[in-house]
Amino acid sequence: GFNCGIVGLPNVGKSTLFNALTSSAKAESANYPFCTIEPNVGIVEVPDERLYKIAEVVKPKKVTPTTIEFVDIAGLVKGASKGEGLGNQFLANIRGVDAIAHVVRCFADDNVVHVDGSVDPIRDIETINLELVLKDLESVERRIQKVAKQAKSGDKKLKAELEALERIKAILEAGERVYPHLKELDEEGKKVVKELALLTAKPVMYVANVDEEALFEDNEFVRQVKEFAAKEGAPVVKICAKVEAELAELEPEERKEFLKELGLKEPGLNAVIREGYRLLDLITFFTAGEQEVRAWTVKRGTKAPQAAGKIHSDIERGFIRAEVIRYEDLIREGSIQACKEKGLMRLEGKDYEVQDGDVIYFRFNV
Ligand code: GDP
Repeated sequence: GFNCGIVGLPNVGKSTLFNALTSSAKAESANYPFCTIEPNVGIVEVPDERLYKIAEVVKPKKVTPTTIEFVDIAGLVKGASKGEGLGNQFLANIRGVDAIAHVVRCFADDNVVHVDGSVDPIRDIETINLELVLKDLESVERRIQKVAKQAKSGDKKLKAELEALERIKAILEAGERVYPHLKELDEEGKKVVKELALLTAKPVMYVANVDEEALFEDNEFVRQVKEFAAKEGAPVVKICAKVEAELAELEPEERKEFLKELGLKEPGLNAVIREGYRLLDLITFFTAGEQEVRAWTVKRGTKAPQAAGKIHSDIERGFIRAEVIRYEDLIREGSIQACKEKGLMRLEGKDYEVQDGDVIYFRFNV
């Protein structure tokens, strides 16, 4: 599956957020009774009302949402790149995730100690980012040394790699993350980024953790985070982790009531999950049978047979064609049969790129 790591300084609300994410999934789901596979890894359902609209049409026995994993990566402190705290362990955990949710403290609460003595979201963001930049710089420099030695033989390929490494090094030395610069890199640069699994080349969302009051109107801290993130082109999600934790404990009906009282349309967690999805460039397609209506996740650009492989490798292997109905058509027409009669069911072959919102029936040879 695809996953998103939760990082941030101590005491900013990471575990509160992680627990809310995993326990609310648990409360809503009979499908994933063991949401927490490891203490710090949680499988979270992706909220998508289209799934339930399809279920109203098809009336299946079972409805199964798609999921995304969140990983609580605790323990980052200043000096982590030099092995402070659980530094190296922490950084190894980040290497394993596809995207990063960077939780930033945007609430003032004298009862909650701040590791650096005061609330200052930009300083906090820069503290974390600096550790990641330093670690990447270490990886890049080590590689440069190795390649430079080999390049003395005059190998052109190595020279190109060396140049790419130097370009990336310059970005890092300017204190910047690589991700916002990925577009500027050529093929060689992108290869280097991938091979070294650079930490700062992962997409980031900033999660501004605020007090309840700031949910309605941004406080100064949130404004600062938004301004900072805009420069990187990174998204910001504002939540109150404390409220999310309370919401997560409630039964669906009570939860609706509480949301209404708070003046919220949905839990803030939904936005975090959806943003994670977007960062990873994921899309959702649906299968809609009498037994089960189900949402599936693939990377944007995935072809029909590989999408089928998500369901079962046999379907990928024996793929004949995909019968595709647009979600909007299915809902408007009210049944799969009606869509067929109106010619709204397309037959697609193995080169078809699955689109977000496709409702698909795969034909395959056994
Ligand atoms: P972590 O170290 O980043 O995992 O932080 P925790 O989730 O353990 O939170 C640290 C403390 O901050 C706990 O006492 C939380 O109850 C508190 N906290 C977390 N989110 C909020 C919030 O939105 N508002 C306030 N006032 N306190 C919060």
